[in-house]
Amino acid sequence: MKVVKAVDVVKDYSLNGMTVPALRGVSLEFEGGEFTAVAGPSGSGKSTFLHLIGCLDTLTSGTISMGGSDLASLSKKQLALIRRHNIGFIFQAYNLIPVLTVMENVSFPLTLLGVDKNEARDRARLALHDVGLDSMENRRPKEMSGGQQQRVAIARALVKHPAIILADEPTANLDSKTGREILELMVQLNQSEKTTFIFSTHDQMVMDYARRVIMLRDGQVESETKR
Ligand code: ADP
Ligand code: ADP
Repeated sequence: MKVVKAVDVVKDYSLNGMTVPALRGVSLEFEGGEFTAVAGPSGSGKSTFLHLIGCLDTLTSGTISMGGSDLASLSKKQLALIRRHNIGFIFQAYNLIPVLTVMENVSFPLTLLGVDKNEARDRARLALHDVGLDSMENRRPKEMSGGQQQRVAIARALVKHPAIILADEPTANLDSKTGREILELMVQLNQSEKTTFIFSTHDQMVMDYARRVIMLRDGQVESETKR
């Protein structure tokens, strides 16, 4: 089943009155259950592409459809709903809420969806178990290592069982050993939960974990490999 289809996607930013082209006609399809890297050098458009399919930004031209509906035809409210229900986002800087505990960070997306407090707690506990953080629910982000914080971020993405998890350079701030542990966790969750992962990277080690690698350069798909 196709989860995302992008056709001729163009994204221009405007900066001090100048047009900055970020994506110049990208067409790509993603199937459910994929484990895919969007790779390429800095400035090639990786983040922009993930932001667009994550409904965090809007495109200049082209179409992106998700589960059959064209994102451009949806209202801001409908986009927010898609984002909340269907998409988990993982950032390179973890982006946890510092004043909240681990439990509160992970159950927060469910609270936004209107899930009852007790159920949210139970589901957050399961997600924390799945990422190997059983005993840490009362900690705050600053009391944890970078690798642990990224596990919390993965649990937060996972807890709503989204159709896709998008990860923007998820290991960029981690040493290579911790980065590998995070990738191995993602591989395991991709297999056990059948969650689709699309992650960006400029690091060969990270690309080597992917089953499909899409190489971007200057806002275009330069090559694509599958294994
Ligand atoms: P990558 O993730 O591969 O490093 P980006 O998607 O961040 O690439 O950036 C693609 C291009 O768009 C770059 O030239 C970058 O400078 C530019 N860009 C990204 N975000 C913005 C923005 N908010 N405003 C202006 N230019 C941007
Ligand atoms: P990443 O490391 O994920 O590629 P960046 O560090 O390139 O992210 O960008 C961080 C933020 O700054 C993003 O929101 C991006 O859209 C924005 N940004 C990136 N390049 C530019 C730019 N040239 N001008 C303005 N904003 C930018």
